[in-house]
Amino acid sequence: MPKLYAGIEGGGTKFIAAVGTSDGEILAETRIPTTTPAETLGACIDFFKAQEDELGKLSAIGIATFGPVELRKDSARYGYITSTPKLRWANTDLLTPFRDAFELPIGLDTDVNGAALGEWRWGAAQGLDTFLYFTIGTGIGGGGLFQGQLMHGMLHPEMGHISLPRMPEHTSICPFHEDCFEGLASGTALEHLWGKKAENLPVGHPAWETEASYIAGALRSFICTMSPQRIILGGGVMNQAHLFPLIRQKTLEALNGYVQAPEIIENIDEYIVPVALEGKAGVLGAFVLAERALNR
Ligand code: ADP
Ligand code: ZN
Repeated sequence: MPKLYAGIEGGGTKFIAAVGTSDGEILAETRIPTTTPAETLGACIDFFKAQEDELGKLSAIGIATFGPVELRKDSARYGYITSTPKLRWANTDLLTPFRDAFELPIGLDTDVNGAALGEWRWGAAQGLDTFLYFTIGTGIGGGGLFQGQLMHGMLHPEMGHISLPRMPEHTSICPFHEDCFEGLASGTALEHLWGKKAENLPVGHPAWETEASYIAGALRSFICTMSPQRIILGGGVMNQAHLFPLIRQKTLEALNGYVQAPEIIENIDEYIVPVALEGKAGVLGAFVLAERALNR
């Protein structure tokens, strides 16, 4: 019998809560608006309790959340959302409500590491041990595996905030940086730079050339620092499928022949790829986090 896991993908506008099996089958799923921590986390707990009555005993819980989140296990604030601009969620203890409601192991990581794990287990990164996953949406975040391990280090990476050469006529929407990836290339930045929601910018609009240049500039930095075996691009903005060929071409131009790997030189179409699991990577990755917590 496959085990039953509860998984959460926590985002700034909605939480997706799901119950599913260790084989990656989602049996029940719900979307809960992100309001206050008490309301939103309470609704997740009520959903899991109701599903447990229906489907059977849960074995573990996995949470993949927006951040910044404290992931150092030896910190007294392990599991807290820390300095988020979403003010009602700053200093929120994500774990205690679930510990009080269920006596289950709980796995926790960032939303992007969660989605990366989902793609690794069932999607576009199967069989790889070093790869990156980016979401280019309201903000930009990156996660993935490095030599088989989720990247944590000091806190957790903030790949959306690397610096990029800024086009002089552009201004950044990041309150912290005048020249960062998220500040210049997120969906929010596209709307700020071009005066229209990204989904309303037509194919062929000059916005897409500069967007692809920013993304390619960022990918060059990540390729040169981490040598990923593949890069997966997701998030609302990447619904613009015409961006992929542009990004691939501009990444090759940005690298300028220096990185001589067949993955890049001969096979760029399979090197920079869209997500395979669409909206499901986050909760599926949360199941993997649950499983890892159970096996710890
Ligand atoms: P979030 O990052 O909040 O989880 P999304 O990944 O859906 O959510 O990203 C939302 C952002 O993506 C918004 O800035 C929106 O304008 C942009 N977006 C959504 N759909 C599209 C689309 N089809 N084409 C381009 N941009 C889109
Ligand atoms: Zn920034």
